[in-house]
Amino acid sequence: MNFKDKIRVIPDFPSPGIRFKDITTLLKDGPAFRAAIEQFKDFAVERNADIIAGPESRGFLLAAPMAYAMEAGFVPIRKPGKLPHETISQDYSLEYGKDSLEIHTDAIQPGQRVIIADDLLATGGTIGSTIQLVEKLGGIVVGVCFLIELTYLNGREKIEGYDVFSLIQY
Ligand code: 5GP
Repeated sequence: MNFKDKIRVIPDFPSPGIRFKDITTLLKDGPAFRAAIEQFKDFAVERNADIIAGPESRGFLLAAPMAYAMEAGFVPIRKPGKLPHETISQDYSLEYGKDSLEIHTDAIQPGQRVIIADDLLATGGTIGSTIQLVEKLGGIVVGVCFLIELTYLNGREKIEGYDVFSLIQY
């Protein structure tokens, strides 16, 4: 399967100069979506994951079907104010300014093995704060996986030492 062919590149979205990688073209292709999830699921099964966590919102699209396919739990990591129970939060820096993510304090038990899935690794800010949230709760991050890695942004340097898998590279 050539997964890269399934990604649509949109010039100047959401702002001039950005070449946005649109994953909806892959998601709507049944065999491609299934094959991508199968590869992620194999990665997670090999690492004995108990929990698959995904950051809002495109991370949900990958983490939830992975969890379902291997009968692991799914944990959402969300933008501030969205989760109803007690949470902890983690700030991270964006190109301009700051954002933060939250997780329920009871989402992960200490010692649980966690895989994190997201659509795209760019600078690594999002995945970095997601890893911190999981680890604050005592979870062990046994791997992180992405549909797309923008290698020229060196996001991997931010998550050195972690087991990283990406399906498509630019
Ligand atoms: P980072 O935090 O690594 O700089 O950026 C990664 C986050 O930004 C991911 O959660 C991803 O959803 C989003 N993102 C940034 N650029 C793109 C893009 O070109 N395509 C898609 N689908 N997501 C992007």
